[in-house]
Amino acid sequence: MKKNVLLFVGLLLLASTMSVYSQEIIAHRGYWKIEGSAQNSIDALMKADSIRAYGSEVDIWLSSDGVPIVNHDADVTLDGEKLIVQDTPFATLRKVKLANGEPLPTVEEYLDAFAQCTHTKLIIEFKTHRSKERENMLAEKVVNMVNERGLQNRVEYISFGLHFVQQVKKLAPEAPVYYLNGDLTPRVLSTMGIDGIDYHFNVLFKRPEWVKESHELNQKVNVWTVNRPEDIQKVIDLKVDFITTDEPLLAREILDNQ
Ligand code: MG
Repeated sequence: MKKNVLLFVGLLLLASTMSVYSQEIIAHRGYWKIEGSAQNSIDALMKADSIRAYGSEVDIWLSSDGVPIVNHDADVTLDGEKLIVQDTPFATLRKVKLANGEPLPTVEEYLDAFAQCTHTKLIIEFKTHRSKERENMLAEKVVNMVNERGLQNRVEYISFGLHFVQQVKKLAPEAPVYYLNGDLTPRVLSTMGIDGIDYHFNVLFKRPEWVKESHELNQKVNVWTVNRPEDIQKVIDLKVDFITTDEPLLAREILDNQ
């Protein structure tokens, strides 16, 4: 009897914790806004895990010789020279150092580090490339790398590219895939089998009805990149499911005060 009471109290506690975090936080490019870290670094991924963010976002490209690498911008600067990532071989890209001294990571290295994480999911953003062939190659390589490591239940995918989200959904039908570009209704995305919208907060402020529409279609709503306290409060009030932010601790504090 006593055991049952304890179990009941435990379940109640668990349910209350879960309701607090029914809106989740995603650390944009990892948790990097601290001394010694850098955007899209392996360090930022591990720090997002250490603060128990729901997710840690990362941007990826394909080098000219077919190596999936981690970087946000379409170009990198090496010895004062600007290089277009998709036109540059990996050996050259590898010489680029992040702000914290880490070499620019490969997706393989990033996934190996991620395999050690205990809490966070990895939200992989496919940057749009010049050709569909290159995008297909990147999507296939990365989905295979994720599967080889048995990480498929811990990875979600996002992209501004409609071709990318459709292609990834084909390759990894079980993985959540969200569209970033802000121009399609939840209904249209639902007919394509995409799992939800991940739009800039200004899009949702203009079209708050898209949150309700998404939920009626059983889709999720993510929003980027929400850093100011007043905007974080507004997207919480809109009842989005995920908040992508450079300020994960601030966002959590505001969420906890609801
Ligand atoms: Mg991104």
